[in-house]
Amino acid sequence: MHRATGSSRTVIVAGAGIGGLSAALALVRKNFRVVVVDKAHRLEEAGAGLQLSPNVTRILIALGAGERLSRTAVAIDAIRVRSQRNRAIVDIPLGSDAELRFGSPYWAAHRGDLQAALLDTAQAHPDIEIELDLKVESFVSHPNGVTVQCRRGDRLTDRHGIALIGADGVWSTLRERLGEEAPRFAGRTAWRATLPAMALTPEYRCRNVHLWLGGKAHLVAYPVKAETAVNLVAIAADDTATLGWSTESARAEVLAHFSRWFWSQHVRDILALPDGWLRWPLYDRPPLASWGHGRMTLLGDAAHPMLPFLAQGAGMAIEDGFVLAEHLADAGDDIEPALRHYEAQRGPRTARVQRGARRNDMLYHFRWPASLARNMALRAMGGRRLLDRYDWIYDWRFAPSG
Ligand SMILES: Cc1cc2nc3c(=O)[nH]c(=O)nc-3n(C[C@H](O)[C@H](O)[C@H](O)COP(=O)(O)OP(=O)(O)OC[C@H]3O[C@@H](n4cnc5c(N)ncnc54)[C@H](O)[C@@H]3O)c2cc1C
Repeated sequence: MHRATGSSRTVIVAGAGIGGLSAALALVRKNFRVVVVDKAHRLEEAGAGLQLSPNVTRILIALGAGERLSRTAVAIDAIRVRSQRNRAIVDIPLGSDAELRFGSPYWAAHRGDLQAALLDTAQAHPDIEIELDLKVESFVSHPNGVTVQCRRGDRLTDRHGIALIGADGVWSTLRERLGEEAPRFAGRTAWRATLPAMALTPEYRCRNVHLWLGGKAHLVAYPVKAETAVNLVAIAADDTATLGWSTESARAEVLAHFSRWFWSQHVRDILALPDGWLRWPLYDRPPLASWGHGRMTLLGDAAHPMLPFLAQGAGMAIEDGFVLAEHLADAGDDIEPALRHYEAQRGPRTARVQRGARRNDMLYHFRWPASLARNMALRAMGGRRLLDRYDWIYDWRFAPSG
């Protein structure tokens, strides 16, 4: 097999998050050499839980990170949907049926475990170099390559490659360089907490995602970390457009969005368990006019930040990285057209997921009496037919043209 040599096959990836590391692993499978740079001093175990549906676990397994991640990820049996009064609405079956149907499992994982699995796999590969404490600031695209300007403290330094992938997340510097506007605050905040599993009653230690729907707010709970911990995410309408992933919030701030007049005491008891929560203001944006220029393109949240109501933020970043590597592998020296083909292919799918997530935002947060009609419709449809509606997401596989 041909091995990557020198800078003629070097791709620069800005961002060692979920999308950047996945892209690096996908690119080395195609015999590229990859330099991943991240502005962070250390890649810490940041964040809370993520859901990884079969379209995504299939790729993680193909990239060689599946075995490492499977030690801590939890294979989910069902999504159990309930009302704010804690009445059962519908169970969406996953487990071995869904694994057979989609050819890959549905996992819940801690973001830190996912990033660690990708990082360990990447660090074990001789053609991936990871440089931390290096912020990508700008780039110049030439006919034969790209020069990437980076900063470490006061020092400016360049990196050279055949292409630059902007995987620098929701506040992407490289997206700014394209002249595209920043994401918009969605008027929603997600508060996250991870609890030891033993803090909850046994029904929440099973391999299920629990979802409670209520007017203007909802709560999600699922096991992570080999079932030793449970991840809670409480999402509500909120006007405070803060930045960052991890501002601490008090329990009372979260409970105020789940008032005792509307929410069952059972749900409020769960919300009262964590000593503190981490605030995550939600941003998304309409599809970008342009994802790239010359030998630069974007992926993941840099290109399409999305609301988490289809649980596909990490998934779309991972799919992007995989598809990008396929296009570059077939490009020969025609790097720019390959990047534009990648963008043309990923744009419609990621825009559809963004729209679907926004639709779920409305559907999840209906108030009475619309919520009553929604619950009846979901019950009538049943879990299996509901799952059918997600085929277009979960059954996705790469094809060169679509
Ligand atoms: C700290 C943190 C916590 C998160 N917690 C959750 C969570 O609990 N649940 C959830 O669903 N999603 C969470 N996310 C978001 C989730 O990881 C992304 O939505 C999704 O995985 C898409 O990944 P991405 O690779 O596009 O971006 P990210 O995973 O956000 O990675 C972006 C990376 O780019 C780096 N970076 C940014 N700017 C530059 C620059 N100029 N130069 C070099 N590097 C740069 C960042 O340090 C980061 O490592 C979190 C993201 C972060 C960064």
